[in-house]
Amino acid sequence: MQRFGRIETPSGPRFVELEGERVHVLADAPWTTPHRTGEVMPLGGVRWLVPTTASKVVAIGQNYRKHAEEMGKPVPAEPLIFMKPMTALNAHGAPILLPPASQEVHHEAELALVIGRTLTRATEAEAAKAIFAATCFNDVTARDVQRREAQHTRAKSYDTFACCGPWMVRGLDVSDLLVTCRLNGELKQSGRTSDMVHAPAKLVSFISHVMTLLPGDVVSTGTPSGVGPMNDGDVVEVEIEGLGVLSNPVRR
Ligand code: MG
Repeated sequence: MQRFGRIETPSGPRFVELEGERVHVLADAPWTTPHRTGEVMPLGGVRWLVPTTASKVVAIGQNYRKHAEEMGKPVPAEPLIFMKPMTALNAHGAPILLPPASQEVHHEAELALVIGRTLTRATEAEAAKAIFAATCFNDVTARDVQRREAQHTRAKSYDTFACCGPWMVRGLDVSDLLVTCRLNGELKQSGRTSDMVHAPAKLVSFISHVMTLLPGDVVSTGTPSGVGPMNDGDVVEVEIEGLGVLSNPVRR
């Protein structure tokens, strides 16, 4: 298993590979099999950025039965996809900013996949090979806005509403991982990726028949039940077995 991230350095953002208590700076994005530059930094004190450079984030609605039930929605026969803009991406540790237009902003803990190669009309087998790594994701949602509108775009796209990180893990079997969300330390969501209606390779294949996926793109796979509101001053954590903890403060 390998862990890759992106950090802020005096010379700008850099991809890194984690090894023990140190990070090795990489010359290029990890999906290009880059060499290490030789620059090494201690893990402590690193400022994490979103671990990938994505052209887009594609997310999945109602991909866990119990979440579809709590939303009062049927389980979709085909994956229900929507998009979040890259400008919504938000790093580990950075605040989620509650927009004035919403009084009910929810957390949605999700497993996200990072795509490693250009993918168009891929089979499930090709899609499985093109998944470069996995990471924790919080598909932050203005639920009151979402209820008022047929489209997801506004409710899902506010700046900071796509929390991702702290790093991405390559080589981990993601088919049966525990996904949890804690708000101020209290468990709110708990599910297993094995309960997904449509599994990761199928989702990536399906999306690639709609739009070309590019290296670095993020596919977030839907949230288990237990979604709920976050308020000013809260701290929200998404933890996925083997992937780490994505933590973000919440600010009005
Ligand atoms: Mg979601």
